[in-house]
Formats: sequence, C-alpha cells, structure tokens
Amino acid sequence: MNLREKDSAYIWHPYTQEKTADSNIIMVRGEGVYLYDEAGNRYIDSCASWWTNIHGHAHPHIAQKIAEQAKQLEQVIFAGFSHPTAIELAEKLLGILPEGFAKVFYSDNGSTAVEVAIKMSLQYWRNRGEERTKVICFRDAYHGDTFGAMSVSARGIFTEPYQRLLFDVVFIDTPDLENEQHIVGQFRAAVEQNKSEIAAFIFEPLVLGSGGMKIYRPELLDQLLDICSKHDIISIADEVMTGFGRTGRMFAIDHLGQTPDIICLSKGITGGFIPFAATITKQFIYDAFYDDEKSKMLFHGHSYTGNPLGCAAGLASLEVFEQEKTLDKIADIASSHQVFAHKIKNNKAIKQVRQCGTILVMEFRTDGADGYLSNIRDRMYSFFMDRHIMLRPLGNVLYILPPYCISKSDLSEIYQAIEDFTADLL
Ligand SMILES: *Cc1c(COP(=O)(O)O)cnc(C)c1O
Repeated sequence: MNLREKDSAYIWHPYTQEKTADSNIIMVRGEGVYLYDEAGNRYIDSCASWWTNIHGHAHPHIAQKIAEQAKQLEQVIFAGFSHPTAIELAEKLLGILPEGFAKVFYSDNGSTAVEVAIKMSLQYWRNRGEERTKVICFRDAYHGDTFGAMSVSARGIFTEPYQRLLFDVVFIDTPDLENEQHIVGQFRAAVEQNKSEIAAFIFEPLVLGSGGMKIYRPELLDQLLDICSKHDIISIADEVMTGFGRTGRMFAIDHLGQTPDIICLSKGITGGFIPFAATITKQFIYDAFYDDEKSKMLFHGHSYTGNPLGCAAGLASLEVFEQEKTLDKIADIASSHQVFAHKIKNNKAIKQVRQCGTILVMEFRTDGADGYLSNIRDRMYSFFMDRHIMLRPLGNVLYILPPYCISKSDLSEIYQAIEDFTADLL
C-alpha cells in the first residue's frame, strides 16, 4: 500500500464522510505559508490549517524553542507541581490582555477551553449558593465539539445526532450590521424573562467563525456586555479563532470599551504548533472558588494541563510577534483585503463581502441551498485545490484566513483565483 492507501486503511478523519470523500493529500513538509505534498507539489495554506497557524509553518524560532524545552522538561503533572515555562507564559498572557484578567487555567484545545469557562461559570454561582444554570448564546455560534461546547453552539447538522442530550440554552439571534437594535432588545428580553437564572453569556467576539464568518460591530457587543454587568451575568469571550491578531488587534476584545470576565484562547496560542489552550478569568471568579472547603475547588483538569512544550511554543510565538513586527503584517493584510473587497463587492456571483482584520469573507449567491451542505462548496473547494490554494469554504461562504507571513504576491494569486472562480460561475 502507498501512503494514501494506508491512510484510508487505518485512519478515521474529522468532519469527513469517508465513503464519498477523495483520499487525503499527504503533506510532508511546511515552510512559511506553503505546504508540500509527497509529490513535491506546493500549496498556499489560505485557511491557516484550520485557523491555527499564524507565523507560517515550521517556523524555525518556535521549532527551536519546542526542541529546547523537550530536552529540558517535556511534561510534568500540573497539580501539586508547576514549571518555569508555564509561569512565564501566564505572566506574559496577562501582560498583553486588557487589565482585569488575573488567573490562567491551561487545557488542551478550544473545546476544552470553553468547557472550562462554562464549568467555572456554573460552579461560580453554585459556590455562592445561587441557582443560576442558564447560558445565553448566539443562534449561529460555534464553541467546539465536546458536549458542553456543543450545547452552547448552533443547533444544526453538526449537533443533530446528539440533540436530546444537549443542555438547554437561551438562544438569541446572530447579530449583523443591520439588526443591532433588535439584538439588544432580544438580549434584554431574554435577561428579563430568565431573571436571576442566567449564569453566563458566551460569544465569539466580532466574528462568528464556523457559523459562516458572520461579522458584527464591537459597539453592539459593548452594549450587551453592559447589560451583563448590570445583571451580574458572567461574560465569556471565546477567542479561540479571533485571538492572536486575527481581527487586526491582538485580541478581538481589544476593540471593545468593556472587558469580559473570562476569555478562551487556543488555536493560534502556540503559533499553530501544539494542541494547547488557556481559559483566563478575572479575580472575582477565582475568589468564589478560593475557600477552606475542598468542595469549592474547580473540579477540572487534563493529563496534559500546562504541558511544557505547549507553553514553550506559546512563549516563542509571542516572541515572534515582537521580532517580526507581526501586528504590522496583519495591518498590511487587512488593507490588501480592503482593496480587494472593494473591487469584488459588486460582482454578480457574490451576495455579500465582509471583512474583519485578516479575515476576508465572500458569501456567494446560491439557488436556495445555503449552508454547510450547499454544493457550490464542493465546486469551490476543487476549483481552488486545482490551483493549489487550500481554502475550506463553509457552504456558500468562502473566506481567506491566512498565516500572517503571507506575501503580497500570494495574496494577489488568491484574489485572482477568486475572480476567476466568479467568472466561471457567471
Ligand atoms: C475552533 C473553535 C473552537 C474549538 O476548538 P477546537 O480546538 O477545535 O476544539 C471553539 N471556539 C471557536 C470560536 C472556534 O473557532
């Protein structure tokens, strides 16, 4: 068997209907924005390998720091023990987050970062002797694939098989640029109706990712956070996708006047090298668990909590931000996107163009079948793959979310391919 055949023989891939899917392309090497397959073909990774990569593949500085850490201390139990790299990373993260964040809880991936935030919020109220168990979330939210994270996410094809086992949440409509008044009204009404039962509000700040790259204004979120603080509702910013520069600032919450109570970070936290996450809270949440009673501790942990390799990668990635002036690169990508968005916005194949920082989104017209299973998706996917551009459309929504090291010429190549695709459609 060759590698592709062995892959099909032995491996079950995520979000894949194995019966109808093509066999997987075997990537053997990465460098900067490029990935190389076993035949030596070069691909532009325009989706940052599922939104994880930020400085480019196999970045030498991050690779070196992980290697050094691996030779020094690769893993240690994180209850009863700690290590210098975890401490330094926590200090650095608190240093770059807005003021008010106080404690860092490590875990392994975006879903667990969200689970931790939800459990913290629910147990916060229990520890204080109040029965608050409801969570507010946006109708098109995506917060991960574990049961708690699924419960606070959109109900749809992703969650249908498990529907009855998900806990109830209070959904409010997904904000956009036109419905802000409606959203504020609906949020207020939800809070009124469920008085003193709402434990938390969880949201993807500014961009709802998997739900179709839906973008809304920070001013609206500020209004919702205002309502939360008036009613003591814990606000949880899920920055698993938006964190580390995606929206033009280091964090999406840097666009806000208010700060949420909890922030969830993963994906880009290690520069895209290692599964790793952090759930970071304000002091008052921590204080509700700080007690002589053992029963008030946070009952959560993972075998690899605080893994030294993840911490080393996290620190190295922050160093790269400084060494390479990554925030300037991010600004350059954002302005290239703006120019292209302007150029393509009246294209007849396209319903709407949206942009937030390094994320450029084109929603295509379809004859009815919008959403994840829309067949324009497969057409787009193969069109771009034929040109060795890796994009992973969400139904009829095509987006570019590249590593920040992408060059102007690679961006132009992607833009050109998008124009060619629309010409192909019309
Ligand atoms: C990807 C994502 C998650 C889940 O992260 P995983 O590492 O895939 O578990 C959670 N929230 C948001 C906003 C995401 O984009």
